[in-house]
Amino acid sequence: MQLSKFFIFITFFSFAQTDSILKVNEKCVNFGFCLPDSVRNYDVILIHTSYCVSVNDSFNLNCIIKSYEKYVVAAHYIIDRDGVIHKMVNPEQVAYHGGKGKLPDGNNQINSRSIGIELVNTKYTFLTESQYGSLLNLVNFSMKSNKIKYILGHDDVAPIRKTDPWNFDWKYFKKLLKSDSTLVWRNNKK
Ligand SMILES: [Zn+2]
Repeated sequence: MQLSKFFIFITFFSFAQTDSILKVNEKCVNFGFCLPDSVRNYDVILIHTSYCVSVNDSFNLNCIIKSYEKYVVAAHYIIDRDGVIHKMVNPEQVAYHGGKGKLPDGNNQINSRSIGIELVNTKYTFLTESQYGSLLNLVNFSMKSNKIKYILGHDDVAPIRKTDPWNFDWKYFKKLLKSDSTLVWRNNKK
């Protein structure tokens, strides 16, 4: 092997290695999920936003997680303002984040069909660049091992009950992801 070819190989190999690893902070919770009967394949990525209502700091992560505990709900991941991805529930498990609702194909098994990703944000603030960047990594990572059909907001599946993800720039995120044409976004509106 020529030296230059060797270096190209090494570069590619190291890129492939880092690309397959998702950096997450383990913040596992002991509520809001269950083990599926069989190996789970999900085809929906459901995006949410959350903030803290009970203390003066809207972005307080522990306060947000405490409120999930109160209602016995949880998403698989929560992305903090600085872009750190915290894993709360293993994606192999079904997390209770979607509640009652309907997918565009009419199916109502929201939780068993999806992974839930929360982004720390309020109705009056915008997501940070770090959050969009981490969400992009997380979505790309999830799409490697699962045939994702839909990327939706909570308000897409439960429009009467839910209004999140607030101030989520779908157009911008879609451009970042450069997805293939088979993927269905937000009822194909954007
Ligand atoms: Zn939600």
